Formats: sequence, structure tokens, C-alpha cells
Amino acid sequence: MSTLIIGGGLAGICAAEQLRKIDESFHVVQSSAMPSSTAAATGMYNPIVFKRLNLSWKVDVLIPELILFYESLETVLGVKLLDKHGLYKHIRNKEYEKFWNSRLNNPEYMPFMGAIEEALGEVKQTGTLDCALLQSTYLKKLKAESLLIDTSFYNKDLIRTGSQLSFKGRLYDRIIFCEGAFGAENQLFNWLPWKLCRGEWITIKTNKPVTKVVLNNRVNIIPLDENTYKLSSTFSWDDLDWNTTPQAVDELLLDFTEIFDASYEVIDQKAAIRPTVADRRPYLGAHPDDDRLFIFNGLGSKGVMLAPYFSKHLIDHIFQGEKLMHEVDIKRHHKRYYNQDEKS
Ligand SMILES: Cc1cc2nc3c(=O)[nH]c(=O)nc-3n(C[C@H](O)[C@H](O)[C@H](O)COP(=O)(O)OP(=O)(O)OC[C@H]3O[C@@H](n4cnc5c(N)ncnc54)[C@H](O)[C@@H]3O)c2cc1C
Repeated sequence: MSTLIIGGGLAGICAAEQLRKIDESFHVVQSSAMPSSTAAATGMYNPIVFKRLNLSWKVDVLIPELILFYESLETVLGVKLLDKHGLYKHIRNKEYEKFWNSRLNNPEYMPFMGAIEEALGEVKQTGTLDCALLQSTYLKKLKAESLLIDTSFYNKDLIRTGSQLSFKGRLYDRIIFCEGAFGAENQLFNWLPWKLCRGEWITIKTNKPVTKVVLNNRVNIIPLDENTYKLSSTFSWDDLDWNTTPQAVDELLLDFTEIFDASYEVIDQKAAIRPTVADRRPYLGAHPDDDRLFIFNGLGSKGVMLAPYFSKHLIDHIFQGEKLMHEVDIKRHHKRYYNQDEKS
């Protein structure tokens, strides 16, 4: 008897790993024919919201937790996943410079922000998780341990009898749905207020070096190999599909050419759909009508920071009865579920 996790992206991986840490058995369903946001994610974590120069939600607990968690995964998987590089914000005008400097005197911001030098404001405690490597090595490990079920899950294949759930002839106590953007199509959870968002990045090769550090103008400019940079990423709420677009190339290059004078060629491009939600807080909790069916989703924005802490929060809730925080509990949207019932 165990837990069935649907989805092998960041959410499913973190949920699985939290179960492994407490010696609970599980299987993960991930179809190799389906795309994922994790495979395309740039994987940066950053404590500052640049638009309003605010601290990101719960950053003081999320950053220490993510470092411990992903470093322990590095040991489990035997690969390097975290790169704790700095990040520099391009200070575009005097007004923003004043705004930045005003934050520097605030003790809350001091651990996360540094002084401006040559029009670049330093952001501390930032880095990048290699999401694609995490996903490929973790799923490979699950496969070797016979814990991976490579198929597309459909609700109709789930047999609910008494206290037990059965899928493909195996019995489970509970299911955790970690379906990313596909969660918005699942009838069990499609009543939640999803606000999915397509994201794209490109890689360019330039004729000369432009930066040794990771920069943010509007998008991130990340040095890779020699004269090779990733420009990441776009946010588009229209035409939601998993295909790349020429509009994204134009948008990303416009940002780059605003601060760098170099010729370039685009050598790679990727697109995916982020599982973003209206109130930007993760979705955790049980289905209103079946307390064996849980969701862990809504990680489309800042997922790298949120997933370790909130996967533990959900597992503590399920196995130790810890109360879910109101901000992440899907009970905050239950009204929509019951209103939907009344309408039909
Ligand atoms: C271009 C881009 C850049 C990004 N950059 C960053 C960044 O810098 N920092 C950051 O924190 N976040 C970033 N993100 C967001 C990040 O991708 C998400 O936070 C995170 O990866 C979401 O993980 P997830 O597991 O919820 O969803 P997913 O990664 O999409 O995983 C869900 C998985 O479930 C599988 N699945 C779904 N339904 C089924 C089913 N019925 N049967 C079988 N399998 C199923 C899917 O195939 C998928 O693999 C970025 C996203 C994009 C698109």
C-alpha cells in the first residue's frame, strides 16, 4: 500500500523525494510522450521581485530549505545540480537607482541586496538549479528501481473502491496529482483558477564576449560556454501551446541589444507552459469530495524555490496531520467547486 504520484516534473520529484526521506513507498506516473515545464525551465532562484523591488514571498525560509534539499539530491543522484552564482540587475535610470539605494538601508533587504557598481545592482543568495538534469537523472533512477510507470494517466483508469484506489492492478492509499499545466485539464481540479503561461528562452552565439556574470535587464542574460548566452525568458498568456514562436526571439533579442552591442546568431530555442495560477500561491490539499486525492501544483512562478519547502509541507500534512497554511491550501477556492456543482 502506498502513494501514487502523477507527474515527474519538479513537483512530482520533490513529493517523491519527501516520501523517500520518511520511508514511505510510492510510484511515479510520467509519460515519456508528454512534455514538461521542468525540462525547459532555466531554474534560477532569486529573492528579489525586480518590478517593485520587494522581497519574494517567504524567501528567508525558502532559500535555506532549497539549498539543503537540492544538495541532498546531488548526493542521492551523484550529479551537480546547483550553481550558486550571483545575479546583477541592470539599473536602467536614476529613479530606479534611487529606489535600489533606498532598499539598501533596510535591514530586511541587506542579506539579499548589494551596492550598485557600473550600473549593476548586486543580488545575493541567487543561483540556478539544472532542472533538466535533475528530471532526467531522477526519472532514470526511478526506472532502475521499478518505481516509474511510463504511461499517460487518465482518471477513468482509476478504480475507487471502499478505502482503496486501484490503478493498473496495483492498490494505493492515496494519489498526489503533480501534473503541472495538464492539471488545468483534469476534471478533478479544473475548477481551480489556473492562469497558465507560456515561457520561452533562446541561446545565442555572439562575435565577442559580453558578460561574465549573470545579468537581468528585463530578462536574464546567462553566460554559458565561450561567447554563448541564454536569454530567458518570456511570459505569454495567449495562444497556449508548447511550440516556440518568432515573437519570443524578437522580444528576447530586443532586451539583449538594449544593453549590448554585439552581433549574434540564435542557436537554440525552447518553449513550455508554466503551471501558473491566479493568486501566485501553490495548490496543496485534498479534493473536496475525496480525501485520498491530493494536488501539488501551481509552481509555475518561482517553482525552484517553492517546491522543496511546500512538498515537505504537504507530506507533513498527509502523514502527520499538520494543518496546511491558508495561502496554499486549495480550500481557499472551494467556493468555486461548490458553485460549479450548483450550476451543472
Ligand atoms: C521557459 C521557462 C523558464 C522557467 N524558468 C524558471 C526559473 O528560472 N526558475 C523557476 O523557479 N521556475 C522557472 N520556470 C517554471 C518551472 O518550470 C516550474 O516552476 C516547474 O518546473 C513546474 O514543475 P511541475 O512539476 O509543477 O510541472 P511540470 O514540470 O510540467 O511537470 C508535470 C509533469 O507531469 C506530466 N504529466 C502531466 N499529466 C500527466 C498524466 N496525466 N499522465 C502522465 N504524466 C503526466 C507531464 O508530462 C510533466 O512531466 C520556467 C518555466 C519555463 C517554461
